[in-house]
Amino acid sequence: MTDWSTLIRDVPDYPKPGILFKDITPLLADHAAFTQVVDELADGLVFDKVVGIEARGFILAAPVAYHSGAGFVPVRKKGKLPAATLEESYELEYGSATIEVHADAFTPGDRVLIVDDVLATGGTAEATVALIRRAGAEIAAVSFLMELSFLSGRDRLQGLEIRTLLTV
Ligand code: 5GP
Repeated sequence: MTDWSTLIRDVPDYPKPGILFKDITPLLADHAAFTQVVDELADGLVFDKVVGIEARGFILAAPVAYHSGAGFVPVRKKGKLPAATLEESYELEYGSATIEVHADAFTPGDRVLIVDDVLATGGTAEATVALIRRAGAEIAAVSFLMELSFLSGRDRLQGLEIRTLLTV
């Protein structure tokens, strides 16, 4: 077992002054650490599809889907998906955003595992939950590599199974 937490690097003042950004790229570059976190994000959970949130969520969610025998569905920033979409707008730790999913991405009753790298304020995950429910699917669980607990993001995901591999 690798202690992969040492492979997450603090980058001060990114993307704006005063933000201490958690950079996961050293972890992704380490094969043992990357495969371990992919396994842990889904271990023991039951789901039909994996949703990855653009952009770092894609990097984690796609191998989770491949490894689990589940389908992969992208949730993307507005304007990136080609067919008919549903959209949700929300506030970020720094700024605001609109995300979209293809309206026909799910079969009714699909159980969905949402995967992203970081749970910060919870706005992105909360909007993703709303999108998936509007698209006719159920949330099986929400898995994050890391939770920034001082931002209390999990308060916006009440009633859901939340897995975070590292809390800072
Ligand atoms: P939230 O909506 O919970 O405030 O922010 C979470 C989203 O912003 C995630 O999609 C995540 O990728 C990104 N994010 C916010 N802060 C960080 C950070 O310090 N490091 C990384 N890697 N992503 C962050």
